[in-house]
Amino acid sequence: MSIVSQLDRLKDRLSSSDRMPVVFLGHGSPMNAIEDTDYSRGWSALGRSLPRPQAILVVSAHWMTHGSTLVDVSALPKTIHDFYGFPDELYAQQYPAKGDPALAREVVSLLASHHAEEDDTWGLDHGAWTVLKFLYPEADVPVFQLSIDMAADLPQHIEIGRALAGLRDKGVLILGSGNVVHNLRAMRWGGRPQDFALEFDKLFADRLQARDLAPLASRADLGTLLQMAHPSLDHYLPALTIAGASDARDSLSFMNNSIDLGSVSMRSFVFHA
Ligand code: ZN
Repeated sequence: MSIVSQLDRLKDRLSSSDRMPVVFLGHGSPMNAIEDTDYSRGWSALGRSLPRPQAILVVSAHWMTHGSTLVDVSALPKTIHDFYGFPDELYAQQYPAKGDPALAREVVSLLASHHAEEDDTWGLDHGAWTVLKFLYPEADVPVFQLSIDMAADLPQHIEIGRALAGLRDKGVLILGSGNVVHNLRAMRWGGRPQDFALEFDKLFADRLQARDLAPLASRADLGTLLQMAHPSLDHYLPALTIAGASDARDSLSFMNNSIDLGSVSMRSFVFHA
């Protein structure tokens, strides 16, 4: 073997053990998957800048469980079209990435204290594949999902992120997909952002910037603003898990910072090692 190819192999080994960033993406409407939007362009640009992971663990707003945290151990996760009344083109989309059953089982062990269990019935819901399609368009990195336990209170979702953080050193990209503000009842078609949406979005960004996560998981601190921003918490919880997987050594950057349809924050963030 030549020195050059030996060096290349060494570089590959080193880069595969580098600490991976953690990423949260605001996914918004499924139509972003087939439309050329500022958001989808942002996801594509991010995909080009990220190191290539060994596997991707996705925490999506659209896999909700109650009393357990499920981990998809299937070898070939199916593409789930979990939305209604959209164009045929959207239902024709496939994201044919493989799963990673061995790593998924490791995650079940890591999250034993969070009632983690194996599952082989889920796959990739639209919270996962509509953004993965832009991050890794070749679908050539193994992907598997983790459910959000709706019965677990907010701080536990940060704890789950902490429990997963060690995977970053094993080349695993931990990707959250939801929205920092998500109130579908308060949408304004083409309208300006609701005041509560701007307020919650800013509060979230400021606390994240300060690495002050506890108030973001405190119902007492967030008060009625939390209810306004998230009548249901599903799109918020993945953001807490991603924040929990960060640490003080990471640098933080934001992207796609805008409020869509008056009440859906598309704000996305990356903690870089
Ligand atoms: Zn959604």
